[in-house]
Amino acid sequence: MKLSFHGADRDVTGSCHLVECAGRRILIDCGLFQGGREIDEENAAPFGFDAAAIDVVLLTHAHLDHCGRLPLLVKRGFKGEIIATGATHDLARLVMLDSAHLQEEDASHRSRRTSPQAANDDAAPLYTARDALDSLERFGRTAVYGEPLALGGAGHATFIDAGHILGSASILLELEEGRRLTLLFSGDIGNAGRPLLRSPAIPPHADVVVIETTYGDRLHKPIGPSIDEFYGAVTDTFRRGGNVVIPTFALERAQELLFILHQAVEQGRLPKTIQVFLDSPMAISATDVFRQHPEGLDAATAKLIRDGGDPLAVPGLHFTRDIAQSIAINTIKSGAIIMAGAGMCTGGRIRHHLKHNLSREASSIVFVGYQADGTLGRQIVEGARTVRIFGDDIAVHAHIHTINGFSAHADQAELLAWHQHTGAPRTFLTHGEAGTMEKFAARLSGTRVEMPALGQGFEL
Ligand code: ZN
Repeated sequence: MKLSFHGADRDVTGSCHLVECAGRRILIDCGLFQGGREIDEENAAPFGFDAAAIDVVLLTHAHLDHCGRLPLLVKRGFKGEIIATGATHDLARLVMLDSAHLQEEDASHRSRRTSPQAANDDAAPLYTARDALDSLERFGRTAVYGEPLALGGAGHATFIDAGHILGSASILLELEEGRRLTLLFSGDIGNAGRPLLRSPAIPPHADVVVIETTYGDRLHKPIGPSIDEFYGAVTDTFRRGGNVVIPTFALERAQELLFILHQAVEQGRLPKTIQVFLDSPMAISATDVFRQHPEGLDAATAKLIRDGGDPLAVPGLHFTRDIAQSIAINTIKSGAIIMAGAGMCTGGRIRHHLKHNLSREASSIVFVGYQADGTLGRQIVEGARTVRIFGDDIAVHAHIHTINGFSAHADQAELLAWHQHTGAPRTFLTHGEAGTMEKFAARLSGTRVEMPALGQGFEL
């Protein structure tokens, strides 16, 4: 039995791990590398294994850094089966098609910049919508939490609720090759007690664990005070006669905010007269997927949906898919909550709303997600007096709020508790910055810890 690492190694993106057992090749995730420089080259580089030789892909969840190289895998000859939960399948469809469109757009920008005779590989997209559709054809069996699936002679795989985003899973492999070995992949582990989702399930015992370490060096603020802070920011803004603009990630965060607004209106903490705009076609589609998968939601929310209720309904909620509808929001000067992507303000419709509200003292910009170094979001969070949007210098007079309690990842204490439940004598750390991993490793005891490098393989 062999385990090798092909992404998210001493890094937080590009998750991809290969297990070889009894002549079968099993891939866990095939994610895109994101952010920073030279990322295009990293994504286009060889996988480190033969795509055509992979028998099955087990997909932990639908975030781009876990599913975003699947269309490339298929383009390079993968003909096997992809297994995921039903919700992950539906969300991955949105995520992969959106990614393919962006790849095609980027490629056409590149080809316009280069000379006609240089219409070469540099201008070709990493993959196209056709490749994304081909990869959707490869989805086979639907995983149900807790129900083992046969892996054709290599043993079984069981998906376990990871509580990270809708449909997310940790995956237990019970491998057989002369002897038995249990190998547990954490996937991304959720932050307990968040709205809509169940907390991560208690993991089973395993001989070997591969665990994410995104926040392996820190503790989160509790969510309750963060929700209060959010309501406070909305109330104060409306009192001043402005709008609330929220840069929003389309998956999970947008739906969480709708649920929090739904509760605020139910509890009388915000007036029924609020106007909420979800100005993101992808977030609108993802919201539909939530309604279709109550099995992935916590008990109270699932019951509400099964009883015909809608936990994501807010009075005065507008879904704006069309560009014209989006532009019409610009005429509203007060009393609106506007959610739009991109979550770090790197592109998308949010920049139009920032342009119309940043210079207004009455308005607020509320950040509820991580803002990476070098992004427009980070500049605003760090107190820039002016920012450049669409070639214009825009003065920042709006109130800026950064609310930190909405993380979708377990913190150090939760990761340590999760690991302790597994009792694993051997541990591989992935999906974290090197410094974070070192700090997390120092907190683990009674287990042999490895921090694999990209491409490194181990006998199990
Ligand atoms: Zn994730």
